[in-house]
Amino acid sequence: MTRSEQTIAESGAGKIGVLNLQGDVFEHLDHLERIGIEGVPVKRLEDFDSLVGLIIPGGESSCLARLMRIFEIDAMIRRRHREGMKLWGTCAGAILLATNVQGESSHLALIDMEIERNSFGSQLDSFVCEASAPKVSPEPIPLTFIRAPKILSVGPDVEILLHMDDFFAAVESPDVLATVFHPELTPSLAFHRYFARKCGLHPLPEESGAMSAWNRNSWMRMARIA
Ligand code: GLN
Repeated sequence: MTRSEQTIAESGAGKIGVLNLQGDVFEHLDHLERIGIEGVPVKRLEDFDSLVGLIIPGGESSCLARLMRIFEIDAMIRRRHREGMKLWGTCAGAILLATNVQGESSHLALIDMEIERNSFGSQLDSFVCEASAPKVSPEPIPLTFIRAPKILSVGPDVEILLHMDDFFAAVESPDVLATVFHPELTPSLAFHRYFARKCGLHPLPEESGAMSAWNRNSWMRMARIA
């Protein structure tokens, strides 16, 4: 048994899937491995068996929505969500989960919020910054916004985890987490730990040091074996 298999075994039962249609899949899998949680790329309907959570990654929401429809993955996500599977959408994933998408029709509509696509402008208006989300981590969290949406408003059952300027950057309902930035593109594991706990799993604590240091290319070893 390798060291990472040991840490996965110790973290409790249950796998988290990462929707593997388009977007930054391997970066999320790398972060899950770092917190000792088994992450699986999810592409076929049978890949949904035994998932306690699913991450819908950033990418392009129109492309993801089309692929989800073609392969009937949207119906499977709705079904597994009804059965208790937790969901986390980052950026394009958050757009797919919103009940209202400004000026367009909604897709999965599983968290009561209004979101506006490409709300900061073009790709060139992407940026990084840092902010505090005390429920998620006591430390400030590095944030990467890439042609990001803004969450403009939320329904009564949705809690705001991170409020910035004129928008919400992270929100959650009891079963769905939505972030408009990309934690998987930073060294921070705080949101991945938070989501794992939301799924009933026990991620490795911060000080465990089970993995080597993160760098921008860390996930590439996973992309090679896919
Ligand atoms: N601009 C993309 C969209 O509207 C989202 C970008 C991202 O996921 N980083 O789908």
